[in-house]
Amino acid sequence: MIYFDNAATTKPCAESVAAVNGALERFGNPSSLHKLGLEAELIVTDAREAIAEALGAKAEEIYFTSGATESSNTAIFGAFRAYGKRKSRIVITSVEHPATAAPALLLEELGCEVVRVSPRDDGRFYAEDIAAAVDDNTFLLSMMLINNETGYILPVQETFSLVKKKHPEALLHCDCVQGFMKIPFKVKKLGADMLSLSGHKIHAPKGIGALYLRKGVHIPSLLYGGGQERGFRSGTESVPLIAGFGAAVNKLAPTIKERLDYVGQLRDRLTQMCAEKGFSVNSLPDASPYVVSISVNGLRSEVLLHYLEKKDICVSSGSACSKGKKSSVLGEFGLDAVSDSTIRVSFCAENTANEIDTLVEQLENAENELCKVSK
Ligand code: PLP
Repeated sequence: MIYFDNAATTKPCAESVAAVNGALERFGNPSSLHKLGLEAELIVTDAREAIAEALGAKAEEIYFTSGATESSNTAIFGAFRAYGKRKSRIVITSVEHPATAAPALLLEELGCEVVRVSPRDDGRFYAEDIAAAVDDNTFLLSMMLINNETGYILPVQETFSLVKKKHPEALLHCDCVQGFMKIPFKVKKLGADMLSLSGHKIHAPKGIGALYLRKGVHIPSLLYGGGQERGFRSGTESVPLIAGFGAAVNKLAPTIKERLDYVGQLRDRLTQMCAEKGFSVNSLPDASPYVVSISVNGLRSEVLLHYLEKKDICVSSGSACSKGKKSSVLGEFGLDAVSDSTIRVSFCAENTANEIDTLVEQLENAENELCKVSK
């Protein structure tokens, strides 16, 4: 099986699985005062410190959640509940993941003005365009670091810096799901007040994520109850999943640059071979190499995806999260013409050059066998 759908989810690494299993055995509740409880609390503390260190943040700025969807919902609704009485505008980009776009839509239904900034005709975002959409009435700007459908890297640092200068009161949130542990960045340099992370995109289990909240940012929580996570996220901590998240970060953090180089070579090989065969590469050359959007001679995405699946190659059509629904994101990037014929190939450092050769060979076979039927 060749797995090229790492932007949808990744295989948990051995270190993460071992940490999950270890924490399942040491099954205490971190709130308990006895030995088992303290052991569990220590596991949570270690993982929190690993994530904080990887981000260049303080441990007390990290809150565990069930995943990036919860993190972004918490950030967006929290910002609304903290500032929505005084201000009514939020700014997002038009290519956000539904974990951001859907809460923004709900706020629009509740009466907020939601400004969705699009890329220019060249398919790129410009910091000044996004910053210009933020005004004195804006309580939140939320933009992703790397787009999950094309790998496009948004100018987050430049935008946040422009906005902080002109509108220091606006909260700045960044969905870093496709960037964390893949490209080097530190939260202070990025300038984010809030940041969403997900475990299962970095070889940790599903159902675990984190929200970074800069010290001094106060938003109300989404969940009320026993007051875990320093009162911010009630509910008994999922110690095994947290342990798995921390272990994956500990494993990956030291090799971000090496893996980026290696995956860059894989991407270059794929794009070069695609060019030779006449397949279109829709991702820009300076996109994250972890995500490559390609199209083969107008072949419909689903047809191609199932053809490859029969050959034991897993890719996705656009975004796995937009299953069944047509995503508008490719159109926003000026890729309307190929949006029905796009597959997303997303890498991890376990992928190999041989796997790429097999993929391209099968794409060629698909073109030869299916093109006339499908067109
Ligand atoms: N944001 C981006 C960019 C994503 O790619 C995803 C998952 O596909 C999410 C948010 C949601 O993450 P989670 O599955 O942890 O809720």
